[in-house]
Amino acid sequence: MHKMDMEFRACESCGGTNFDLIWKNSAQVTRVNGEWQFPINTVLCRNCGFCFSSPAPSKSSLEKYYSNGYSGCKSIGLPYSIGARVQILKKYAAPDGVFAEVGGDEPGDFHKACASLFKTQLVIDISNDIDSKLRSVKNLEGESVDVLAHYDVLEHVLDIKDFLGECLRVLKPSGIMICEVPNLRLYPRNLLMLECEHVNHFSVNTLSNIAREIGFTLIEVSHKCSRSFGFLAVFCKQPEKNAVSYDHTVEYIDALACLRGGMDQIELMLSNVKKLTEKINTLSLENKKMTLWGVTEILRRILEVMKLPKGAIIVDSDPRRKGFLLNEGIEVFEPKNVIEHIATSDLIIICAPRYKSEIIDWIFKKSGKQISSDNIVVLGESLSGESLL
Ligand SMILES: [Zn+2]
Repeated sequence: MHKMDMEFRACESCGGTNFDLIWKNSAQVTRVNGEWQFPINTVLCRNCGFCFSSPAPSKSSLEKYYSNGYSGCKSIGLPYSIGARVQILKKYAAPDGVFAEVGGDEPGDFHKACASLFKTQLVIDISNDIDSKLRSVKNLEGESVDVLAHYDVLEHVLDIKDFLGECLRVLKPSGIMICEVPNLRLYPRNLLMLECEHVNHFSVNTLSNIAREIGFTLIEVSHKCSRSFGFLAVFCKQPEKNAVSYDHTVEYIDALACLRGGMDQIELMLSNVKKLTEKINTLSLENKKMTLWGVTEILRRILEVMKLPKGAIIVDSDPRRKGFLLNEGIEVFEPKNVIEHIATSDLIIICAPRYKSEIIDWIFKKSGKQISSDNIVVLGESLSGESLL
């Protein structure tokens, strides 16, 4: 088991060191490069209300952790909407200019979809499993990019100001930076607090405040962004005139309420897991077949409280996860190799709620099995069916 070196982080927004620890947890993460213990220390800055991790894993620990890539496997569905991204990008198109995406998560189809909007498109990522020659923003020439975008990157970044400073440097004067991050205000409606990899938790207030200090002006916000749990902010490379900061006390109080709401969702999910284990045990006694879909944090919570019963298998469409549960003595199957078992399962348990509709469609297409409320349980979903993780 790899352990993270933990380091104290001052507030990235105001530089303050006076925090309240709101959420302490630890996740066990299996990656291609091994098993990791990932501590979570979510704090709120008493001075400005910015929410982040401190102590957080050190930079060198995170580099090792991400050495095999940020990206997941997209053999079933895409976790983001290309259409939503392109819609915003159209407004800032530069047909003779350069578009750079930092942290491109297998961007092939996305970049094809915006091919007509820019003359040149670059992908910059630190991971090794994405085809890019540019490994860091630092390798880009100054004032060379018209539009720079990073989608769900900044919540992973330890030195926010350093990163944004590099983005500013490579943009041409009045260049555009598009930034999408999970929205702290939506935490009471999701399970994002289980995402150990997120070391920053932004609201529009805190993100725009940090970006402004670097030299960006916020020009647009959209809540119709490419992932349902985020917000998208568009910045222009120019110092903001007559900037007024937000009310720090209100930000703190509201952020605290958002974190508490998120913790309530986790409680609810755990109580649903408990109910589900009773159902699984009953079905197992009746020799019924079951399929648990998705090697996720939610699945781990199930395996923490019960042994996988006879007749139940675990599947994940990412072939790299085959050996992820070997320590528990469990093989993870690829769905395409166990279609018969899936088709004859009395219960399908989806532990990757984000992929619910793709999974249901896939099952019907491959096996003709109709999914109804009798034979499916989706964990990590709100009462209205909204995906929470
Ligand atoms: Zn602060």
